[in-house]
Amino acid sequence: MAFSYTVKYSDRKSIGLSVKDGHLIVRAPRRASRADIEKAIAGHTGWIEKTIAKQAAAKEADEDISKLTERELRALGEQALKVIPARVKHFAPLVGVTYGRITIRNQKTRWGSCSAKGNLNFNCLLLLAPPEVMDSVVVHELCHLKHMDHSPAFYVEVRRVMPDYDKHHAWLKENGHSLLKRMLG
Ligand SMILES: [Zn+2]
Repeated sequence: MAFSYTVKYSDRKSIGLSVKDGHLIVRAPRRASRADIEKAIAGHTGWIEKTIAKQAAAKEADEDISKLTERELRALGEQALKVIPARVKHFAPLVGVTYGRITIRNQKTRWGSCSAKGNLNFNCLLLLAPPEVMDSVVVHELCHLKHMDHSPAFYVEVRRVMPDYDKHHAWLKENGHSLLKRMLG
């Protein structure tokens, strides 16, 4: 199979292949000949085909995700403002911490965060996750008020409060990405 490709010459020492948006990009040393490049491509045909197919499938899956409308997002934010503070209130004494302000945000990159002052931020999209997954994020952030890092001591605390934390965290790792994709824009 012949691929159309773009060659980018630079001071590098060897030929490197990558695929971007389904298109093959060859990074080559300035002295590389056309034959060198063709040979490198021929040697990686399987990988190139697989990568192009994988990217096409991922793109298709992304397009299938229905975006939340602005109105749905607002409704979700309002619901989150009721639900999440109640969960924080429930878990804070179990962790043994007090907290400051709770803010609900629409974020594309994170599920929760906290400040040194004890203020907490949560993503309203957590409402679309299973309730125990939402709780796991609440516990995670509350435990940061004791341990401002991801040290072993932090995870001991997290698992003390929520023994099946790892399972919920794994769910978020697996599915969180497509939830975040439902955010507009
Ligand atoms: Zn953390």
